Amino acid sequence: METVLVSACLRGVPCRFDGRHKASPEIEAALADREPVPFCPEIAGGLTTPRHPAELVGGDGHAVLDGTARVIDDMGCDVTAEFVAGARLALAAARRSGCQEALLMPRSPSCGRGTVHDGSFTGRLTAGDGVTAALLERNGITVRPAPGP
Ligand code: SF4
Repeated sequence: METVLVSACLRGVPCRFDGRHKASPEIEAALADREPVPFCPEIAGGLTTPRHPAELVGGDGHAVLDGTARVIDDMGCDVTAEFVAGARLALAAARRSGCQEALLMPRSPSCGRGTVHDGSFTGRLTAGDGVTAALLERNGITVRPAPGP
């Protein structure tokens, strides 16, 4: 059966910054007939739940990987190292399980694909990828934002 890397919060793991998850019937339908490989890069990278929300500042996940942007939480703490470590572990998990595709949580600074928060902590969105989404894409894994709100 085809494997797909999935944001762990989309499979009911309460690993979001606010201690909640984002499981939904839409996600389960999108995973039908495939074997999900749940993974949370922020927890894998050493962060805890709950935690302060973080955003990409100075660019998106690609810029973070290139060293020209940072990930900062709403208290001003730099969590770039944890986000990059988590992205590398997500890539390792995807490779280990043979995933060619990832279905990830929209707008997350780790998992977002195509659209992320703009670093102002005001709810504004901008074009770009999260750190994990960027690293997976750079390594040939197709990243799709999960369906739903
Ligand atoms: Fe969900 Fe990804 Fe955030 Fe973990 S890092 S809580 S998997 S969106």
